[in-house]
Amino acid sequence: MRISKTFFKTFRENPANAETKSHKLLVRAGYIKQLGNGIFTYLPLGLKTLENIKAVIREEMNKAGAIELQMPILLPQEIYANRLDTFGNTMYKLKDSTGKDYCLGPTHEEPFTYLVKESINSYKQLPIILYQIQNKYRDEIRARFGLQRAKEFIMKDAYSYDTSYENFKSSYNKMYNTYNKIFTRLGLDYLPVEADNGVMGGNNSIEFMAKADVGEDELVVCECGYYANTEKAECVVEEINTSDIVKLEKQMVHTPEVKTIEELTSFLNTSSKNFVKAVVYSTDQGIVVALCRGDREIEEVKVRNALKLTKIEMATPEEIISIGSVAGYVGAIDLKNAIVIADNDIKNMTNFVIGANIQDYHYINVNLENLQIDYFADIKKAIAGDLCPKCHKPIKIVRGIEVGQIFELGTKYSEVLDCKFLDEKGKSQYMIMGCYGIGVSRTLSAIVEQCSDEKGIIWPEIIAPYKIHIVIANNKDETQINVANKLYEQINSIDDNVLIDDRNESFGVKLNDAELLGIPYIIIVGRGATNNKIEFIKRKDMSKLEVDVDEFINQYKKSF
Ligand SMILES: [Zn+2]
Repeated sequence: MRISKTFFKTFRENPANAETKSHKLLVRAGYIKQLGNGIFTYLPLGLKTLENIKAVIREEMNKAGAIELQMPILLPQEIYANRLDTFGNTMYKLKDSTGKDYCLGPTHEEPFTYLVKESINSYKQLPIILYQIQNKYRDEIRARFGLQRAKEFIMKDAYSYDTSYENFKSSYNKMYNTYNKIFTRLGLDYLPVEADNGVMGGNNSIEFMAKADVGEDELVVCECGYYANTEKAECVVEEINTSDIVKLEKQMVHTPEVKTIEELTSFLNTSSKNFVKAVVYSTDQGIVVALCRGDREIEEVKVRNALKLTKIEMATPEEIISIGSVAGYVGAIDLKNAIVIADNDIKNMTNFVIGANIQDYHYINVNLENLQIDYFADIKKAIAGDLCPKCHKPIKIVRGIEVGQIFELGTKYSEVLDCKFLDEKGKSQYMIMGCYGIGVSRTLSAIVEQCSDEKGIIWPEIIAPYKIHIVIANNKDETQINVANKLYEQINSIDDNVLIDDRNESFGVKLNDAELLGIPYIIIVGRGATNNKIEFIKRKDMSKLEVDVDEFINQYKKSF
């Protein structure tokens, strides 16, 4: 492709509000352009890159026997009737001119399951894995980080249908292996981590996380090979025998003008480890008070799972008053109509401090028997230095971008949508389902997070929009132009994988753009052209090599 003939513009300045490297570089290098908050246009080079990612995904999915089709984006809202509440405001809802309700597909479990239900009726037609690569829509209040969290994004979503859990496991393992192949081929540094299954239940869920400082997920990593999302990672608590500690009498103390845990612990001359903090949630089962040690944080997902909640959000100050307490001073003594769940750490605490449910008052010297605890569970968030649940060595925490997930759905959707098959004995059974997603556009941004330097992007070859980027040093030099054109025509005739910068720009501008664009190999046609020589540069390390044009073309034919 000749740059002068394509739709191409680079920018020196970072786009406004861009926080991540990938957002800045993809916009500056002219791969994408923001049209609105969380909505992007893929420009010609960006589209080519995206198609290269899709090609790898398709190839591996097809090899695994998955079958591609395409569902509509515009869907009747009624097919999501059973989980409209779960989507809440994240679903784009619209009406047609007759007043009928539609939505833009946020995920496609229902349309796929309807299709399978209406097309498959015998065990002989199973197992089947169907997939599509399609746009998805979510009304993200916090659209940010460019393609990482957008309102319109591209997903590969697949759904498996099996006759038994045993057979499901085989579909699931097939997808696990396929995902490893895909992300390895795409050149990503990633981890398959144990993930939360949420309200679906079931034990099988793996997230594929690209390591990145700007990742929105925190991952527990241990040298023994244990990897888990902090939402899921089990915290090990060794119970200490507290029976010989003298338990003091609980006492209410006035703690005026004390707002933070730091202020409180300094006021009472104690440590945050001796304080029990409370977080109050409004849930589908009523008000839930979650307790953990003062130096730790509650992991909301663990609370949701421990109590099997379908809705969980922070309680309002009014709701806190309704349980006989007041925001900032919540404790688990004399609460009304609240479910209290405490982290396992609290079993080991004695003579601790807790809110007195009265403005400006705390209790000191509190012990377990003083509290009204309904459940103990592991509900705190893992932090670096905690002990690994597998090998008991200290864990590390790294950040990651979720680029894929494989997930056991069981019979959740097949039961609700009555998706059944007839088994060998002619008995009607629900199909066992799994779902398997890859964030295609998000993968593009994760690759740029990992594959870039201060000058620009460094594409892995398999994704790069072109393999070779020819730069003519002096656009007024006939010899350089002739050599560059000859090189371009010859490579183009071999595999159409070459970009030539033939613009009337200075050499400096063109070289900067070449570094920004990140095509793996840059060829400079400069003064050496008079001797039929060119400069061959690897973008990765900018190492240079002078080579003969004809030798290069011969080599290209053989090994590129
Ligand atoms: Zn370990």
